[in-house]
Amino acid sequence: MFTRRRLLALGAALPLAQRVPAQDAYAAARERMLREIEADVRATARSTHRDRLADNVLVALRKVPRHRFVAPELAAAAYDNRPLPIGEGQTISQPFIVALMTDLAQPKKTDRVLEVGTGSGYQAAVLAECVEHVYTIEIVPALGRRAAALLKELGYANIETGIGDGYLGWPEAAPFDAIVVTAAPDHIPQPLVDQLKPGGRLIIPVGSRFGGQDLLVIEKSADGRTIKRTALPVRFVPLTRER
Ligand code: SAH
Repeated sequence: MFTRRRLLALGAALPLAQRVPAQDAYAAARERMLREIEADVRATARSTHRDRLADNVLVALRKVPRHRFVAPELAAAAYDNRPLPIGEGQTISQPFIVALMTDLAQPKKTDRVLEVGTGSGYQAAVLAECVEHVYTIEIVPALGRRAAALLKELGYANIETGIGDGYLGWPEAAPFDAIVVTAAPDHIPQPLVDQLKPGGRLIIPVGSRFGGQDLLVIEKSADGRTIKRTALPVRFVPLTRER
């Protein structure tokens, strides 16, 4: 009797289980990733001036299926709080760094944002959850094409991808409310400063390939002047230039 009732309960539960989308297999891993990100945010708050992430950034991180942005054999590690290889000698940034850069950009629903260094497309997707439109540019054609196909498959209609040298920005789509750069130049590219709206923010790692880099927050004031501050020491792949 007892066994039969248990069996019945199990049977009743089966159709429900089948309705859970495959992606939800990673929901617990994403929650763990969020807790680790929040711990890193608190641990670095004195330097970044951020002790918690904005709600829209948290919602975005909880939603974007990071496991789709890495190779299938790395999917199990996709929510670890560390960078992972994405091919062509490049990496998808550590989740905490993606979260911090997104938060420092202060994305709003009406914003138009430029990302330099599409890579896997993950940072572009996180931004796209927060803003109206994302333009993202990648210098390695194979990476740019792969990210474009994936973002389309995932239904990100508000992301435009381009192949080219992001040092020069995306003049046709400028000006931007925010620009997020995910590869490190050794100086601040003037075209990117020029393509910021007054009141806009440029989030960019700057430094040498071998020495340290600093994650900079550059704000353009209403009168066009820029204010710069260092948020955190970081390590990014170098920004390369078209030859
Ligand atoms: N934002 C990415 C991580 C990028 S790693 C993600 O979420 O996965 C940095 C990327 O910047 C690499 O793919 C590299 O090829 C690209 N890159 C380097 N120099 C560049 C340039 N001048 N213009 C555009 N992309 C560049």
